[in-house]
Amino acid sequence: RSAVEITQETLERITTLEPKVKAFLTVTAENALAKAQQVDQKIAAGEEIGILEGIPIGIKDNMCTQGIKTTCGSQILANFVPPYESTVTQKLQAAGAVAVGKTNLDEFAMGSSTENSSYQLTANPWELTRVPGGSSGGSAAAVAASECVVSLGSDTGGSIRQPASFCGVVGLKPTYGLVSRFGLVAFASSLDQIGPFARNVEDAAIFLSAIAGYDERDSTSLKVEIPDYTQYLQPELKKGLKVGVIKETFGDGLDSVVAERVQSAIAKLEELGAEVKEISCPRFRYGVPAYYIIAPSEASANLARYDAVKYGIREDAENLVEMYTKTRATGFGDEVKRRIMIGTYTLSAGYYDAYYLKAQKVRTLIKQDFEQAFADVDVLVSPTCPSTAFKAGEKTDDPLAMYISDLMTIPVNLAGLPGMSIPCGFDEAGLPIGLQLIGNVLREDILFHVAHAYE
Ligand code: GLN
Repeated sequence: RSAVEITQETLERITTLEPKVKAFLTVTAENALAKAQQVDQKIAAGEEIGILEGIPIGIKDNMCTQGIKTTCGSQILANFVPPYESTVTQKLQAAGAVAVGKTNLDEFAMGSSTENSSYQLTANPWELTRVPGGSSGGSAAAVAASECVVSLGSDTGGSIRQPASFCGVVGLKPTYGLVSRFGLVAFASSLDQIGPFARNVEDAAIFLSAIAGYDERDSTSLKVEIPDYTQYLQPELKKGLKVGVIKETFGDGLDSVVAERVQSAIAKLEELGAEVKEISCPRFRYGVPAYYIIAPSEASANLARYDAVKYGIREDAENLVEMYTKTRATGFGDEVKRRIMIGTYTLSAGYYDAYYLKAQKVRTLIKQDFEQAFADVDVLVSPTCPSTAFKAGEKTDDPLAMYISDLMTIPVNLAGLPGMSIPCGFDEAGLPIGLQLIGNVLREDILFHVAHAYE
């Protein structure tokens, strides 16, 4: 089939499913068809084609797309049309991908259920009364519902892996610095990282090969050669591969059915020839408290730019201070305001040492736990989340319950490591469960290798 036909089919599927799933904030049908036409012309002319030529993709709505509204799920950016393109989306365009739209997210990527979007609720395609996870819930749901083949998410504390787990798809948060953040609207800059959602490991490998790489416009971008990640996909597991099971992630609060399925997945890895051993990461449990100081601190600084002058909406006011306050009061939702207040507090004189600095020290200790673990094993495994997808509304009044759902993913961001969630079964209700694989710095190769052999 031609790229135009594939795009048309995808757009039709979106039209049919969106009233129920609501994964997209903007569908860019015209642009997609125009791009598909270009692809077909290129193929007809016998030109060299990119690795994603004609493939329909979704883009989380916190990545800037030139001339296409980029809202971050926030009212404050309701009218924001970026004058420039983010590096990732530019690379995808160059690789021939056909972007079909911008996907829903928790406002400024703050949340774990996509319920903090100020626009719409996205449903979990497996069971519409349940959340798709978050914050990249739209991107995960879109791939799970086959409204696109692959999509882009961002992960600050679990926002790719947790929704991947809830929606039964593959989700990868690469090593910090592997994928350029240029054009990604900043939440917590030292933690944010862009990565793929896909229906299988191979698609994720192809997609990462297309988006990774050094970018001089991102000062934290790593100067490393990017391999073709598909070369690590082999049917058999490498001999002597050591898998560490993080003991602490099997403690209190873990659903028994999740524990069971993840244990069977680990048993399967052993059958495939892996050497499995238990590993202790004793400081892991301080991840959530440290994260909820570091992330809000960085967010409070990053979100100071929404001053009604440079971006987005502006409320009428008598003077400058009133303009700031009125705009920010109406433009930001409750969770974003909560984070700004926490972050402003933890960074303020007198409290900085007690909170922010302390949290940074904890971050170092968590890194040390991982360093010790990787002296012993090649890859670490854990459940991705303590539970399967919860019901919409179940945790909206209890921010702490919501924060806890990232228990197992947050330490990975604090240490800057690559983490992947792959489907590993279902609970009694038929909801998907995710297995998390964690690699050492820049060892995406091992994650792809193990995930593919498992799959
Ligand atoms: N759920 C976490 C938070 O609310 C992580 C979000 C993310 O990774 N963007 O901060």
